[in-house]
Amino acid sequence: KNRTNNHQRAVERVAALHGRVRRQRLDHAHKTAHALVTEHDFIAHEDLKIRNMSKTVTPKPDPDKPCAFLPNGAAAKTGLNRSIADAGWGVFLTILHAKAESAGRDVIAVDPRNTSRTCPECGHVSAENRPTQEKFHCISCDHTAHADVVGATNVLRAGLVRRDANPA
Ligand SMILES: [Zn+2]
Repeated sequence: KNRTNNHQRAVERVAALHGRVRRQRLDHAHKTAHALVTEHDFIAHEDLKIRNMSKTVTPKPDPDKPCAFLPNGAAAKTGLNRSIADAGWGVFLTILHAKAESAGRDVIAVDPRNTSRTCPECGHVSAENRPTQEKFHCISCDHTAHADVVGATNVLRAGLVRRDANPA
């Protein structure tokens, strides 16, 4: 009887701990989404329905510029990335879209195909443009950049094209 009670208490403690961690992650996802929506008029991201991966990159925030991020390739180096991965991309994007809508911001999902292998300078598409996970080096025009910056640039451009094609 006593042992059962102890076991029950332990189970409840673990469950409470899980609940707290999940709430903290959700809270962080809310804060992150709020910051993105506050700082950017336009946000583009890779469409999760097409590719579902847990990592993300966010270019340096710039209040005057639109923003793009993508769930591929990037090491989860920052607290931001880690928190998004922890909360789950689907949950994060749901929160982001809801906040963007109530703030009158545009959030657009784009087709993630080739975003990591298209040269933002000359448009050449090749898997060989991506010699390593971090590095982008265009085999056509020699353009070199961090692969995540290239990916985010391509996602943002694709999002802006989509927006301009379907003005609200
Ligand atoms: Zn190129």
